[in-house]
Amino acid sequence: MKFDPTLRYAKQIKAYSIGSTGQDKLATASCAVIGMGALGSAIADLLVRAGIGYLRIIDRDFVEISNLHRQSLYNEQDAEQFMPKAIAAAHALRRVNSSITIDPIIADVHAGNIEQLLDGIDFIVDGSDNFTIRYLINDYSVSYNKPWVYGAVVGTSGSTATFIPQHTPCFRCLFPEPPELGAVDTCDTAGVLGPIVHMIASIQAAEIMKLATGQQKQCNSALLQLDCWSLQQLSLDISHAKNEQCPCCSQGSRDWLNEASLIHSTSICGRQTIQLTLAEPLPYTLDEFAALYEKTYETKRNRYLVKIKYSDQINLILFPDHRIMIQGTEDVEFAVNILKKFVEI
Ligand SMILES: [Zn+2]
Repeated sequence: MKFDPTLRYAKQIKAYSIGSTGQDKLATASCAVIGMGALGSAIADLLVRAGIGYLRIIDRDFVEISNLHRQSLYNEQDAEQFMPKAIAAAHALRRVNSSITIDPIIADVHAGNIEQLLDGIDFIVDGSDNFTIRYLINDYSVSYNKPWVYGAVVGTSGSTATFIPQHTPCFRCLFPEPPELGAVDTCDTAGVLGPIVHMIASIQAAEIMKLATGQQKQCNSALLQLDCWSLQQLSLDISHAKNEQCPCCSQGSRDWLNEASLIHSTSICGRQTIQLTLAEPLPYTLDEFAALYEKTYETKRNRYLVKIKYSDQINLILFPDHRIMIQGTEDVEFAVNILKKFVEI
């Protein structure tokens, strides 16, 4: 080990809430961050600095210039090179702390791969931007008895809660069904400020530190809402909110984990982008795909993806895990039609 851990973590060990026993426990804990956007960046940075032993960072997206005002692990070069966030984040995090294991994965988490992606992980933290993934994480958490920390930000406000199977209500106890599309603000409609990201991410990271050091009883027992502009705070005690009719933790349904369809489309928040995930692998490698179209379209390629400029407004980005992003539209049918010009589906 390059640096003496007693020196590196001296001030953290001195804090009575951690101590040397806590520091040792942190060093053996494993955590997955799902979504390495704004929240995920800040959470991962804190956990890596704190000395968590193993951090798996999972993200489906790549860095763009419009991310930089709030996504603190990335820089202009990452955006210019359209680096996948998982890779750019791993690079930045390893420069912060080379003594811990960072495991970057470029993938869209869905019912077909969540068990594999979270295999061997003790704790899960939500850095995502959509409800579908949170219901899926919740199903997984209840099924596999893994605690997770929810977080969401939009505009100047954010919310967080900690879900520990068999000890707290689950996410679905509080929110039995997802909101209707368009019923809640998103970063598309309300934007988002960097400071609220860091406020919520800081609480999420502290919750993981409590869990990892065996201090579950100290965890947040509220659905906490904060606003970084008005400084208003709402803390709703959820310690007795377990719903005996909860479809997930009481009745055993795993509606998201058991979702049969692996072809799905997602609108990417704030990006005018539709993501399409195919059930069958494409019969090409990234290089073969790029070679097929580079004479017809302006094509850019890095190790992780191929980006094809279809028109001034529309880009198509192909990832190796059978995902295609169609940038420049929010219309799923239109996106599928563009894709059909490139692959047989
Ligand atoms: Zn429940």
